Amino acid sequence: MADGCDRACGFCTIASIRGPFESRGPDVVLEEVERLAAGKDREVILLAQDLTSYGLDLGGGQDLPGLIRRISAVPRVHWLRLLYLQPEGVTRPPARGGRRKRYGVQLL
Ligand code: SF4
Repeated sequence: MADGCDRACGFCTIASIRGPFESRGPDVVLEEVERLAAGKDREVILLAQDLTSYGLDLGGGQDLPGLIRRISAVPRVHWLRLLYLQPEGVTRPPARGGRRKRYGVQLL
């Protein structure tokens, strides 16, 4: 979903190794999800060092909840796993389930 990190946790070298946070474009992500869901994959794992910052560097109102809504509309996607969320970045429910989909949040 993204590479790098803009945070500065004192115990971590990711930011200095991987550079600044850079999101992949939502259309690219959605295209990959649709391709995988067309096969046998039913679980999507969205992974970034700081997933709650997803899209903020892209501008144009892109953000994680918006991408989750788009992925939620992809047929045959039953599970969506989010790794890793920064607690202060969760400001509203990450997704609204449709009539036939339920979403659970498991914090690890
Ligand atoms: S948010 Fe994670 S990856 Fe970023 S600096 Fe902190 S521990 Fe490292």
